[in-house]
Amino acid sequence: MKTLAYGFPKLGEKREFKNTLENLWKEKLSQQDFIEGMNSIRTWIANIYSQFVDVYVSGDVSYYDFMLDMAITLGVIPKRFGEYKGLDTYFQMARGGQALEMTKYFNTNYHYLVPEIEGKDFRLLENIPLEEYKFLKEKGYNPIPKIIAPYTFLKLSKVLKRSSHSELPLYELSKIESKEDMENYLFALLPVYEELIKSLSSSGASAVLVEDPALCLDVESWEWELIQEAYKRLSKYADLYVITYYDSVSDYKRFIELPVKALGIDLVSNRENLENIRKYGFPEDKVLIAGIINGRNVWRANLREKLKLLEELSKFTQEIIISNSCPLFHVPVSLEPEDSLPEGLKERLSFAKEKLRELKTLKAAFEGDAQALKDVEESQRLLTQNIGVREEVRKRIASLKEEDFQREMPYQERVKIQQEILNLPLLPTTTIGSFPQTEEVRKVRSAYTSGKISQEEYKAFIREQIEKVIRIQEEIGLDVLVHGEFERTDMVEFFAQKLEGVATTKHGWVLSYGSRVYRPPIIYGDVYRPKAMTIEEITYAQSLTSKPVKGMLTGPVTILNWSYYREDIPKHEIAYQIALALLEEVRDLEAAGIKIIQIDEPAFREGAPLKKRDWPSYFEWAIKAFRLSSRAKPETQIHSHMCYSEFNEVIEYIYQMDFDVISIEASRSKGEIIAAFEAFKEWDRQIGIGVYDIHSPVVPTKEQIRAVIERSMKALPVELLWVNPDCGLKTRRWEEVIPSLKNMVEVTKELRESLVKA
Ligand code: GLN
Ligand code: ZN
Repeated sequence: MKTLAYGFPKLGEKREFKNTLENLWKEKLSQQDFIEGMNSIRTWIANIYSQFVDVYVSGDVSYYDFMLDMAITLGVIPKRFGEYKGLDTYFQMARGGQALEMTKYFNTNYHYLVPEIEGKDFRLLENIPLEEYKFLKEKGYNPIPKIIAPYTFLKLSKVLKRSSHSELPLYELSKIESKEDMENYLFALLPVYEELIKSLSSSGASAVLVEDPALCLDVESWEWELIQEAYKRLSKYADLYVITYYDSVSDYKRFIELPVKALGIDLVSNRENLENIRKYGFPEDKVLIAGIINGRNVWRANLREKLKLLEELSKFTQEIIISNSCPLFHVPVSLEPEDSLPEGLKERLSFAKEKLRELKTLKAAFEGDAQALKDVEESQRLLTQNIGVREEVRKRIASLKEEDFQREMPYQERVKIQQEILNLPLLPTTTIGSFPQTEEVRKVRSAYTSGKISQEEYKAFIREQIEKVIRIQEEIGLDVLVHGEFERTDMVEFFAQKLEGVATTKHGWVLSYGSRVYRPPIIYGDVYRPKAMTIEEITYAQSLTSKPVKGMLTGPVTILNWSYYREDIPKHEIAYQIALALLEEVRDLEAAGIKIIQIDEPAFREGAPLKKRDWPSYFEWAIKAFRLSSRAKPETQIHSHMCYSEFNEVIEYIYQMDFDVISIEASRSKGEIIAAFEAFKEWDRQIGIGVYDIHSPVVPTKEQIRAVIERSMKALPVELLWVNPDCGLKTRRWEEVIPSLKNMVEVTKELRESLVKA
């Protein structure tokens, strides 16, 4: 038996990756020093790998994103970036004015850059996998190179095609859907992959790790034929280790027929892969790569159970390699620096380094090593002790009834009461919540957290910011105001720090995209709210104005999906626990006179499983959790916010959330996305259309904003429409925010007037 690991977090012990990258951008580092910095991260990882596992990869340290690396390797560079000029072009594509679109990698919180395929003339442009492989090889390591499989690459890319809508530009980007397209692009791509794999093996690579997680989506039967064909061609040039993860492979029988040396499956995220092995066995002539150490959650593995599993698996196949269940970059680097976790928690956790150790222990235990067997028993002992138990919370969850998930009054009735209280004009204007988190705000916060200023001083500073933002919003003429969220670093971490049963880490950084990192909280016990979380700031803001100020909460599904969560109770129960805590906050906000409450759910859709057949059960509890948290009085107007626009497939679920108003992204598609709501006949809720893109520093013109509103007015009755930016403004500067909002409000007023006249 061997051990294998891949996808180690590249952040470094002290966020070296982030600093090196950002220093290049700030021109504090030359390109050469930058590359040296990245190379030292590469050796740091290889050094860790080689202490713990037998087989490990090169290629974990992309300068920005591994999909972008693959695109550049294959020569997939849109024309607008001109001729390829190394790193300059690379970062233009990643973060220039016309950068590639960014989207979530499957159902994780990592964002990749979506390759844009404009034609079929692929070529081996810059052999990034080879460069990384060679570098480590020269340093004396012996990794295997890692690449993204052609099928997954195409599934995650968009291709430029003639548009079917007449109103839009003649060409548009879309996913590859048809058999004809998949076949054409795949066969155009394969020669380049052949060349790539050839180059790797002729440089001494004993095998190539090919990541093909798209095989876990709903793969069509004709697609399997193409995939089979592709691997038949590619496996001529090297031993291929084809790895899948995040779910079970969509068709196990066809998967194990793929003509490759080793096949990797995720035995953690699902039961099905294991059941399939039991049912259909595993081919004798292939190696099974058993992904048994969870790459996505932070718990120490139950090694005794894992050992049993290995014993069972070894009956089905001659040769097993054990590995992490999916890339390890979803977890932080190491537990070592965490010194202030709640009692009893640290010894239950396992971050990336510790997970490598677990692989090593498992292998040794399997081979009968006495010390390893002792370690296995020790892990078992730790895991059976409960921490964070709160009986009242469990009782409350157990006694929930159907009516707890329902508002008292149907929408059509409550909306009338709400309008009477709020008395809002047609096309009410608002924002999504946050206002610029300036350098000053961040400085004062860190002065407070490091103890340099007192709590009173910090609070006074926040109050000043709130007052300023209220005045600005009044001056601009917005109808529904917000307090600006200056007291929050991160919309999930803020609540995590206030809730019991949830821990936050000091150095548990995880990559979100590019150089952006965040620290996911760890839900380890029963969750409850020891005291009010947001009332002070919201009521202060409301006291300054006669306009309504929205209470601002992060929804239960988003808090859960952006945290690590315990695995000893079902996921829906955790969601309900969080929802109940939020409901208490809703009640307190109501009691304090707040009339509108927004419960953000930007992660609502991304938590959906990979395969559609699993959607109903996910959405059932997700919807219930949201409804439980938002069971306000009929007169309280409940808003939700989601920052994306692809609602077509999920609109029925979104509708069942039973909010009064939802704000969404609409600007990038120029209002076209409203079509999803148009097509859904029952739609009767108010929609705040995101009329401009906050991700860009450019101030939108009145004409651009008007076009989006007018497009939306064609699709939905004007009574249902609100006007707002498409997400929070915290990453923007005041110089951009004020003129943008002014334009937005002015256009809305003009439109209102023309509506009254008509
Ligand atoms: N209320 C949050 C904000 O404005 C919402 C952020 C989000 O949707 N990601 O920042
Ligand atoms: Zn948003």
